[in-house]
Amino acid sequence: MRRHLIALTLVALPLATALTVAQAPPPASESGLQLTAMDRSADPCTDFYQYACGGWMKDNPIPPDRSTWGRFDELQEKNNETLHRILERAASGGDAETKKIGDYYASCMDEAAINSKSIAPLQPLLKKIATLRSASELAPLVAELHPIGVNVFFGFGAEADFKDASLEMAIADQGGLGLPERDYYFRDDPKSAEIRKEYVNHVGKMIEFLGEKPDEASSIAGRVMAVETALAKGALEAVSRRDPTKIYHKMTPAELQAMTPNFQWSQYFTGLGAPPIYALNVTEPDFFKAMGQVLGSTPIDDIKAYMGWQLAHASAPVLPTKFVDENFRFYGAVLTGAKELRVRWKRCVQFTDSDLGEELGKAFVKETFGPQAKADTLKMVHELEASLEKDITELTWMTETTKKEALVKLHAVTEKIGYPDRWRDYSGLTVVRGDALGNSQRSNAFEFHRQLKKIGNPVDKSEWTMTPPTVNAYYNPLQNNINFPAGILQPPYYNAGSDASANFGGAGAVIGHELTHGFDDQGRQFDARGNLKDWWTEADAKAFEERAQCFVDEYSSFTAVDDVKVNGKLTLGENTADNGGLRISLMAYLARAATEGSKTLDGFTPEQRTFLAWGQVWCENRRPEALRMMAQTNPHSPGRDRVNGVVSNMPEFQKAFSCKADAPMVRQKPCRVW
Ligand SMILES: [Zn+2]
Repeated sequence: MRRHLIALTLVALPLATALTVAQAPPPASESGLQLTAMDRSADPCTDFYQYACGGWMKDNPIPPDRSTWGRFDELQEKNNETLHRILERAASGGDAETKKIGDYYASCMDEAAINSKSIAPLQPLLKKIATLRSASELAPLVAELHPIGVNVFFGFGAEADFKDASLEMAIADQGGLGLPERDYYFRDDPKSAEIRKEYVNHVGKMIEFLGEKPDEASSIAGRVMAVETALAKGALEAVSRRDPTKIYHKMTPAELQAMTPNFQWSQYFTGLGAPPIYALNVTEPDFFKAMGQVLGSTPIDDIKAYMGWQLAHASAPVLPTKFVDENFRFYGAVLTGAKELRVRWKRCVQFTDSDLGEELGKAFVKETFGPQAKADTLKMVHELEASLEKDITELTWMTETTKKEALVKLHAVTEKIGYPDRWRDYSGLTVVRGDALGNSQRSNAFEFHRQLKKIGNPVDKSEWTMTPPTVNAYYNPLQNNINFPAGILQPPYYNAGSDASANFGGAGAVIGHELTHGFDDQGRQFDARGNLKDWWTEADAKAFEERAQCFVDEYSSFTAVDDVKVNGKLTLGENTADNGGLRISLMAYLARAATEGSKTLDGFTPEQRTFLAWGQVWCENRRPEALRMMAQTNPHSPGRDRVNGVVSNMPEFQKAFSCKADAPMVRQKPCRVW
């Protein structure tokens, strides 16, 4: 399924989540901090990240089935163990309520049944692809492939109209690429060339598994690569896609048709069973023009090969073992540096979460999420909102006119905590025990049609785009709401009943991060109702941009790995959210401490504990391959930069740790927007 364009998250949605067996957490300290995670031989004023996380990094080498291992992964691991128990129970004849998730999981686990079918379940679609005679016959087949999750040519679905965010409209987006991002097709450094070579090898192997002779398969793979490269040429790269004005082009179907003469859009819409479409957001017209040219000039055999590859690619995780292994070899090992494939149950838990997330999430919430966490979080949200209000009111660089609008937007923010009020109804989805691929395809189609039905209807703001066990959070600029799944409202982010200072450095900063997203370079372009509408005076917008540029320059100076720097423009929104988020969280903590009092715990002052908790939620180890991919595709900065980048901008940090004015963690020209 295509992801929504602009949900602003706390961490990236993983390409592949891999897990190892969770260890028992170390005994909690009085302060709620994990003291053993620290490296007390390091100087907090020289490298605060090392000081907060050095012990953890040393004690937590990356498991072989992982490309990255951090506190988020550690907690997700713990949640997945809970999901595993729920699913094993459901699979071995649980109650009627959990039958669907049990059957789905059991089918995914049954590797022998999957292997015995070989590629038979793909044959009907492979045959349809084989009988295509020209590009003008494509549309009905694309309409069959998109719903089941096969990403050929472009993406299609529903999303709120940026300029009237109360209504859902159809959206046609760039797509059709097997590499993670557009620039992977064009970067000319040796490492990128090597990845492309491995990619073509991988495509060739998959085509061979579909029944081609090895020699022929490798030449076909070269032609598939040519198709994808031609599509990529018209695509927008990651930095530009962060600008909502660059991905909003409202058009009629006739206008879209004119750009792609060989693709019969009316047949496509009919094939999907879409409601009447009068207008759609064609995110990148240049992409569709490029697609039109590709369809007009590429031999039909190459187009067929490309579609066969994309079908195998989308199905690989639930195909026979050799597909799974080859899929891991490229997407796990080559791209992210993982050494081993995750054991099967871990993959199957992840697939069940992604396909039946609210059915599984219901069972998860029942076991794990108490009213205390919800009440505490809500209290913190209100305190953080009060801090941001104070911050905006006291800004020296913004005029009263814009401040007034900013406060209107802030007061309109709504919050969702834990899990949906109304659970998704999966009764229209058929899950067949023993049919892993079919279950995956039907689940995708169920979701695809659920999205299609929205077109032309009011937006349902009560819906979630993350499942309850997810260790993450998001701000939706089109709905002006902040969302915190149950999965993240646990240690190390939030310790129920623990001293507040560490909770404000963890969960509080997460809440502050999401709130600040409403006012980062992207979020600030949307108003209180979620409409793409400029509410800034020209002078205030300029003042904002000057301050934002300080972050761009700061983070661009950080090295991600080898010769690859952090992309300060790609990560601007997240860095703004991190910096604003921790600042308003510390403000909120201090306001609470002023009434409730505070004391030194575990040898640290309250302010020190807030900073240490912030540092410790980002403890992580990453493989070089993963760091490279992160810097090139991920809008978030690596953990070290998220921590040191923020604290070095805060005079409050310098004061809390008595750092000298020329210490490395004291920036001579600190950056600040919020
Ligand atoms: Zn974020």
